[in-house]
Amino acid sequence: MTRQTEGRGRLYDTVLDTVGNTPAIRINRLAPDHVTVYVKAEAFNPGGSVKDRLALNIIEAAEASGALKPGQTVVEATSGNTGIGLAMVCAAKGYPLVITMVETFSVERRRLMRFLGAKVVLTPKEQKGTGMYQKAKELAEKNGWFFARQFETEANADIHEHTTGREIMADFDGQRLDYFVSGFGTGGTVTGVSRVLRRERPETKIILSEPDNAAMVQSGVAQERTEDGEPAASHPAFNPHPIQGWTPDFIPLVLQEALDKGGYDDLLLVGGPESIAASRDLALKEGIFTGISGGATFATALKVAEKAPKGAVILAMLPDTGERYLSTPLFDGIEAEMSEEEIALMRSTPGYQMGG
Ligand code: PMP
Repeated sequence: MTRQTEGRGRLYDTVLDTVGNTPAIRINRLAPDHVTVYVKAEAFNPGGSVKDRLALNIIEAAEASGALKPGQTVVEATSGNTGIGLAMVCAAKGYPLVITMVETFSVERRRLMRFLGAKVVLTPKEQKGTGMYQKAKELAEKNGWFFARQFETEANADIHEHTTGREIMADFDGQRLDYFVSGFGTGGTVTGVSRVLRRERPETKIILSEPDNAAMVQSGVAQERTEDGEPAASHPAFNPHPIQGWTPDFIPLVLQEALDKGGYDDLLLVGGPESIAASRDLALKEGIFTGISGGATFATALKVAEKAPKGAVILAMLPDTGERYLSTPLFDGIEAEMSEEEIALMRSTPGYQMGG
């Protein structure tokens, strides 16, 4: 029978109302037989990532509190997805937006933000995540702009408690859920979801993941902070890693709540190359297109699966789409030109051949 769709049964007043309600999708070929693995595909958000949720809530919470005035400029430091989400929200609501970003993050991200009307100010790679953060702060102070402060704001974990966590509760209602797997950028996802799971599904184990060469949480070394909870210095266990959007060079205040309140059960490390391989596998074997951090989370979920008891159900977060990594190692070896095999296919019939 031909598949049929029914529409959403409603009309939307703004693109912003389409944020959230992302699907949890079963993995059919890559998971071992004794477990069931689902992925929550945040690429279904209108801006293509999990950060649409936070961007929307930062702006709406600030509108509600009066911290953001009509027409006031918004400024934020971001590795990309928050900037894209904020650019979407600011465009839809009519706020000017300035983003500060380390020069090493993918070029697609800058161009996407500029396409959505944001100004993007680059900061030197030597000054890492703290450099882009301090630049945003300087600009906010000098110009009286609204600083979104994704790494400290309560609006971050709150939105994951009220949306991501609720969606997981609804979708797994009456079903087993043994493990929830996530990495962290700000920690908003894991902190917000863990509030819900601890309260309502205490049997679900929360697995936190971080890059094997930037194992700040595992190091046990506390983050130095200012009185406002901002990082006062780069964390000593940090090293540059290829999992964009994960693990800045400090432990964010938003994540600190999950660390302090027992918001996770186990911490697993994952490497850059295995993360990239896992993202490619998801595309090739499941048709699921996600970025490097999605690969990292999925690779972690497979480590959990290896040791999980028979029948266990695992949910892994896939934070964004792979499309914003065309210029990164995720696409290394994916060429624009025809391969020998493709040329042989072209020559296998007489017509329509490229010259040369
Ligand atoms: N992956 C990617 C690609 C991201 O952009 C982010 C957010 N920076 C994350 C994962 C982590 O999400 P969170 O900030 O909620 O911890």
